[in-house]
Amino acid sequence: MTEILPASNPDSIRQAKRLLSKGHLVAIPTETVYGLAANAFSEEAVAGIFAVKGRPSNNPLIVHVSSVKMARDCISAWPEEANILAEKFWPGPLSMVLPKSEKISNIVTAGGPTVAVRSPSNPIMKEILEQCGFPLAAPSANLSNRVSPTKAEYVAAQLNGRIPLILDGGACQIGIESTVLDLTSSTPTILRLGLINLAQLQKVLGEVRLASMTGSKEILKSPGQLCRHYSPRAKVILGEGSWDELIINLDKNTHVIALDSVPNDKNPDTWHKMPNSVQGYAKKIYEILNRCDQANAKAILIQPLPVESEWDAVRDRVYRASMN
Ligand code: AMP
Ligand code: MG
Repeated sequence: MTEILPASNPDSIRQAKRLLSKGHLVAIPTETVYGLAANAFSEEAVAGIFAVKGRPSNNPLIVHVSSVKMARDCISAWPEEANILAEKFWPGPLSMVLPKSEKISNIVTAGGPTVAVRSPSNPIMKEILEQCGFPLAAPSANLSNRVSPTKAEYVAAQLNGRIPLILDGGACQIGIESTVLDLTSSTPTILRLGLINLAQLQKVLGEVRLASMTGSKEILKSPGQLCRHYSPRAKVILGEGSWDELIINLDKNTHVIALDSVPNDKNPDTWHKMPNSVQGYAKKIYEILNRCDQANAKAILIQPLPVESEWDAVRDRVYRASMN
């Protein structure tokens, strides 16, 4: 059985620490999405993450730390760029890929020589990291390929009965996963976009590249290149090019995720009006996708997003959701 405890109670934090110290898994809120955490220094605990999620062993995990000191325990070289970035963006939604130390097992890194480290700002996750004293490997607390949870109830909907404890810390503040930046290539390269964007990183580092698999505008032209990820059970239809036509002929089991308000002739229960800001949209998108899953939506129609680079991270998630 899975227990769900309020994170505001210090006893819950102690219980999480006890379980993690014994090598068990605990779902913990972070500012991005809920994480499924295990002791990053324990091979057995980390193997549990892959088993519970059904995650392919070639998909590496992000290791969460409470300080630069803890990060340096996980990596074998700490370049000057890492120092600058940690100063500017930690604690926060930036994961840095660096050469791994011997303490980090190959299971965490999917056999590779590098590890992604991040210092989260969520006070609950921070508190647990500090109490544990060891880093926590934590991917999103969902089944592999499904929508990331931004509330405890969505973790429970996917992982109930598979883990001993979920800490309920309310809704995640950011709502989409961290930016992943590879510092081991000759030019720093963004492997996954998050709300810390290309322009912000370029301002700090100078030259930064965007790997082709992330949510740049090119993806608009070739969504077929993307691997499927972050998918709800319903079929996701992107309204690019044919939005007006699609909403005229809307099926009653199709939910709509739109920047526009609900028109008079549409059902407000299946029309999800999204905030117009990137931050607002990011915070809400997984919640709405999770809600569509819970409502047994047959299809989800998504209104096109503004074509501005600011929206790239959100566009990336929406395109990946449509790859099912
Ligand atoms: P998740 O934990 O579900 O947010 O996924 C973590 C993502 O971070 C992976 O899918 C990779 O894209 C990226 N990642 C983690 N570790 C590494 C690494 N060592 N090298 C490259 N990418 C990584
Ligand atoms: Mg994930």
